[in-house]
Amino acid sequence: IVGIAVTATVCSSIIALVLALARHYTVELPYDTQYGMVFDAGSSHTSLFIYKWPGGKENNTGIVSQLRVCEVDGGGISSYKSDPPAAGNSLQQCLDVAKAVIPVSKQHSCPVYLGATAGMRLLSLQDQSTTDRIMQEVSNTIKGYPFDFRGAQILSGMEEGAYGWITINYILEGFIKYTFEGEWIHPKGGRILGALDLGGASTQIAFTPKEPVTQPNSEAALQLYGHKYGVYAHSYLCYGKDQAMRQLQAYLVEESGFSAIVIHPCYHTGFNLTLTMRELYDSPCVTKPGNIDPGKSVTFFGSSDPERCLSLIQNIVNVTECPYSPDCGFNGVYQPPIHGQFFAFSAYYYTFDFLGLAPQAPLPKVTSTIETFCKKSWYSLKVEYPGAKEKYLKDYCASAQYIVTILVQGYKFNETWDNIFFQKQVADTDIGWTLGYMLNLTNMVASTRPLVVTGVQR
Ligand code: AMP
Repeated sequence: IVGIAVTATVCSSIIALVLALARHYTVELPYDTQYGMVFDAGSSHTSLFIYKWPGGKENNTGIVSQLRVCEVDGGGISSYKSDPPAAGNSLQQCLDVAKAVIPVSKQHSCPVYLGATAGMRLLSLQDQSTTDRIMQEVSNTIKGYPFDFRGAQILSGMEEGAYGWITINYILEGFIKYTFEGEWIHPKGGRILGALDLGGASTQIAFTPKEPVTQPNSEAALQLYGHKYGVYAHSYLCYGKDQAMRQLQAYLVEESGFSAIVIHPCYHTGFNLTLTMRELYDSPCVTKPGNIDPGKSVTFFGSSDPERCLSLIQNIVNVTECPYSPDCGFNGVYQPPIHGQFFAFSAYYYTFDFLGLAPQAPLPKVTSTIETFCKKSWYSLKVEYPGAKEKYLKDYCASAQYIVTILVQGYKFNETWDNIFFQKQVADTDIGWTLGYMLNLTNMVASTRPLVVTGVQR
């Protein structure tokens, strides 16, 4: 009886397997998780993104997913210019987290990259040898860990924009999709999304225009899974959130004739901020007057005046000059007309999320919310948002006005505002340039088909 039962069980298992194969089901191969990591060394801070992917099995929502993100304590690596070894040391805590998260047997084969962005691009304009020293120190620290270190690089603005574009289209399966029937396809008429990134020191826009890009310097020609994409990408150095705020301060100081007291319309009544001239002008994004005493200080007093704040912003963002008329972004930069839907992330998201405007809100609601917020006193803001960090809270009014200015008047989203989604994550993966960077450097998007084994089909 036992023999008959065993034979029957074995037969029914074989029949079930044959049926499964006949119905084109993918047989799931046992898989071996792989890991990869990217340090995003931004201007204001560094994050370590840890990714994982199945070595022998796909999943249906994209192959690579984010396992963990570790926030490095302290400022961005460019803030360590007077102590470069400390830039390297600052990474240790997150590398220790990675060691704890990634199985020991997988650490030696885990690629690690560090990409630095506009904070380091700016420092390299000021001081190349300190820039090199910091890059050397961060590399040395990573080399001290048992991972497969593949290099530390300063990304160009164009690369930063293009990798952000690769990331969202990868996560949202714009390039390639694994069908229910078990095939990889290029989704026909699939949504190819644009990317809007607002960092601290630069801001990027990247999208596939309707018509070909006419200025070759603005095109990132990408080949992904065998398909060619003509992507328009541009990075505005000095127009990230923090450097734009710095430009506003410098404009007001100059306008006041370098007075010690300056009214700031984007700051809230009751708020004040004192800076030395050394601090104010410590950036290539603002022009330091020759005869200024670096020790002299200036105090900004908030006046909660949204109208003046907006017109102040128009002084640092030129939305009228256009040598490629009408194809311009702002500051006379070539840009083909906006096309398709966009994801806006990083400081775009932080600002709009704080104001309750993410992922989407109609433009009239956006402008009225910002106006009401900007009119509030510092005292009422502190009461309303007791947990908010002061370093961010002071700038939400100005950064929100700045965002609307560059999006609507700069990039010309006037008719297509509703095509922008302010979002931080898709499928538990952060939107930013790091994933696209890793996919590209590990060759995961270069082949006509994904490099993973997709299972056996008949
Ligand atoms: P980066 O360090 O260059 O990647 O830039 C990140 C930008 O996001 C900086 O301008 C930060 O000030 C800003 N940021 C980060 N977290 C927040 C937050 N919670 N609220 C507002 N802005 C933020």
